[in-house]
Amino acid sequence: MVITLRNIVKAYDNKKESGRAVDGLDLEIKKGEFVALLGPSGCGKTTTLMMLAGLLKPTSGEIYFGGKLVNHVEPKDRNIGMVFQSYALYPHMTVRDNIAFPLRERKMPKAQAYERAKDMSRIVQIDHLLDRKPAQLSGGQQQRVAMARALAKDPDILLLDEPMSNLDARLKLDVRDEIRKLQRELGVTTIIVTHDQEEALAISDRVAILNGGKIQQYGPPHELFGEPANLFVASFLGNPPMNLIEGLIMEDNGVQAVVTSGFSLPIPDARRLEGSHAGKAVRLGIRPHDLRLTDASDPQGIAMKVDLVEHLGSGKLVKAVDPAMKLGGMIRLLADNEARVQAGDTIYMRVRDDKFHVFDAAANGLNL
Ligand code: ATP
Repeated sequence: MVITLRNIVKAYDNKKESGRAVDGLDLEIKKGEFVALLGPSGCGKTTTLMMLAGLLKPTSGEIYFGGKLVNHVEPKDRNIGMVFQSYALYPHMTVRDNIAFPLRERKMPKAQAYERAKDMSRIVQIDHLLDRKPAQLSGGQQQRVAMARALAKDPDILLLDEPMSNLDARLKLDVRDEIRKLQRELGVTTIIVTHDQEEALAISDRVAILNGGKIQQYGPPHELFGEPANLFVASFLGNPPMNLIEGLIMEDNGVQAVVTSGFSLPIPDARRLEGSHAGKAVRLGIRPHDLRLTDASDPQGIAMKVDLVEHLGSGKLVKAVDPAMKLGGMIRLLADNEARVQAGDTIYMRVRDDKFHVFDAAANGLNL
């Protein structure tokens, strides 16, 4: 079912203009799409999900399901399945009764509701646990019961509120794959709220990045990562985070370059900034994996002094400073495990294939 949010505002305290948990949100989710709302704590993710569920009313703006305005439709009439972070299972009921509960609420006869509960439990592979109570289940099993319950009534929309945050790292990966597979098979339009960027990027068709109640960027994972729309998205996404270095745009004979206190980088013709930007203050953004080690003979090599080397397993994270300490902080570079580099070394690094970003430091961090 297509979901449309139009200029949604939610102020918990109507008196305070600044107190907007959600501040003019526009979002369109296609039928069958898997979308993540991702952002730091307090950015308005849960508030948005609660408004979709009908558990909170927007202060202003409209929510449409399949073209129909649902602002005033009660939660029980929205045909939504929801999985909460806590799973919210009924402790006194068996797994069978938990899964059948939403069906019984809709007056489905008991035998039929139990049959459906059994079918759902098979899909999420817990059909051997139907007679147990939630306290007799592992976290992963409880999570599956919550999924089965949410999907039992064949919802138009599935809402997931940090559904994997109580699982250990390994189980999380398995459950993540299972949720994605199940969602694809059933084709149910799904929205997940998470603060875990790896999870959001791995599982979703599109991700909406929120900050301060506003959407910063909405698009497929590779686009958000490769073409961040502003400084917030650039610095929020990526682990280890993007290096951001202060600089200026210089122009000489029509050639543009970003000049920092330690080095300068020519901007390739294909990415030339339109118009004249000479003297404009910018932030140069370079991801750690887009920096590589080179040697002193490389004319584009930038000399750095290694401060710290962290072993990540898949590689080494090198943290270095420029010898004159002019760049204003540590530069992070991802090197192979084979790279021979240790604290105190002088190294030379260069940017891989012109993979850098330039953000306008004045205009709200826009990507130039
Ligand atoms: P988290 O990841 O920490 O759960 P979130 O992105 O889900 O954060 P929300 O829970 O939507 O954020 O909160 C958005 C803002 O609204 C926060 O500033 C929060 O303090 C505020 N807020 C949330 N619930 C209420 C409430 N019931 N009354 C007043 N303010 C609230």
